[in-house]
Amino acid sequence: MYNPLSTHAGEFIDHGEVLESLEEAARESRNPARVQAILEKAALCKGLTHREAAILMDCDDPVMEARLYTLAREIKHRFYGNRIVLFAPLYLSNYCINGCVYCPFHAKNRTIPRKKLSQKEIEDEVRALIRTGHKRLALETGEDPRNSPLEYVLESIRTIYAVREGGNSIRRVNVNIAATDVESYRKLKAAGIGTYILFQETYNREQYLKLHPSGPKSNYEWHTEAMDRAQEGGCDDVGIGVLFGLGGYRYELTALLMHAEHLEARFGVGPHTISVPRICPADDIDTEDFPDALPDAVFRKLVAVLRVAVPYTGMIISTRESVRMREQLLDCGISQISGGSRTSVGGYTSVERHDETAQFDVSDTRPLDEVVGWLLDNRHIPSFCTACYREGRTGDRFMSLCKSGKISLCCTPNALMTLKEYLVDFASPETRIKGERLIEECLTDIPEGRIREITRRHLAEIGAGAHDFRF
Ligand code: SAM
Ligand code: SF4
Repeated sequence: MYNPLSTHAGEFIDHGEVLESLEEAARESRNPARVQAILEKAALCKGLTHREAAILMDCDDPVMEARLYTLAREIKHRFYGNRIVLFAPLYLSNYCINGCVYCPFHAKNRTIPRKKLSQKEIEDEVRALIRTGHKRLALETGEDPRNSPLEYVLESIRTIYAVREGGNSIRRVNVNIAATDVESYRKLKAAGIGTYILFQETYNREQYLKLHPSGPKSNYEWHTEAMDRAQEGGCDDVGIGVLFGLGGYRYELTALLMHAEHLEARFGVGPHTISVPRICPADDIDTEDFPDALPDAVFRKLVAVLRVAVPYTGMIISTRESVRMREQLLDCGISQISGGSRTSVGGYTSVERHDETAQFDVSDTRPLDEVVGWLLDNRHIPSFCTACYREGRTGDRFMSLCKSGKISLCCTPNALMTLKEYLVDFASPETRIKGERLIEECLTDIPEGRIREITRRHLAEIGAGAHDFRF
């Protein structure tokens, strides 16, 4: 029985409700008046229900689709301006006791070399990342209570935050580790993590059980209810996602939104971010074995539907996608991207030695400076901002500012200041010229008055080298 307020996975992701939504979508997507009404509702920027989003996804009328893409772009601009937040993943360990059939870290893979970073190696990796200009990381590990217990993750977080390199540091550590218990989430929050990220992989229980034949992750309920426990443990910024290609995309989109609705209903705050990874080739993983692989055109549309359905939620795309695809998705509503990424354990300090430990083949292999230059060429503001997190603007405090539209008053100046900081400390001469030019243009868009004055003053201070302050 469907109940968004329930604590049981089987009720807030009720299989029957997903199927009924898909049946309704198949019918109503051919009803122009209904689709038009949904698009009008989306234009109010207050989001859509999972049922409405499913109808939009199914509608292949070209005029309606064009309207959807325009709306997705407008909504993104309204809430995020042209800012794009940058981060890098940091793989701590690829030991794993789970049997996920799509991931080369699965326990039965005997060909992949296993590697776990020592604290000294983590420090070296972090120094290398800081030297490229990164300020935000997403920690990644396989699940293995013996090789990478929670204590190891907590110690690693402490190590990362303590590293200082040329006056710079990592300011936000997001964490993508296996589902755990409330007490462990409490400890992660106390260690100062930003967002707790966990991908559902697939919401379809039957498919989930096939794809996770062994290990703790094979428990669908434990995995699907993880974000509830994270919230109970105080992790009020949570990031959800689906690994697209594992199951039917209509099912996944609908259930993903039901999950978001559930979190909003139960905790008064929806997910902070939604990630949309697609399955990639990797060590012993052949994408041909996954018949539900998502074609590019459907993927773009899915991102646009998500953008209009959850306007306040950040959307993340990784280097799994090609430069071209990333460019197109930025236009459909993506607000955060990784750049200069390595998915191997130790890959930032020793590329050759550790490459065979990688989780998947990165498609966009450009260094961070090139990614920043490319964003600037496309008139996006690359942002390294972490101010919200430090100022305690997390969970519902962030969401209420976001919903009122006031968030952009702090975001644009902060984004410009962290961009300036990047340009001064790390950028190549070409990127710096492009960046300075965009900053000047953006300053004229900030309304006259106090905010523009403060931004100008701070930008001047950064230019003079006094940049190690208050972002
Ligand atoms: N081990 C933790 C877990 O499974 O939740 C978190 C880290 S895991 C390294 C991060 C994510 O990588 C997984 O949640 C999965 O969606 C994704 N992934 C695994 N295999 C992949 C592949 N072949 N292609 C693309 N993404 C993959
Ligand atoms: Fe392990 Fe995560 Fe890979 Fe599954 S997806 S095998 S849990 S690292």
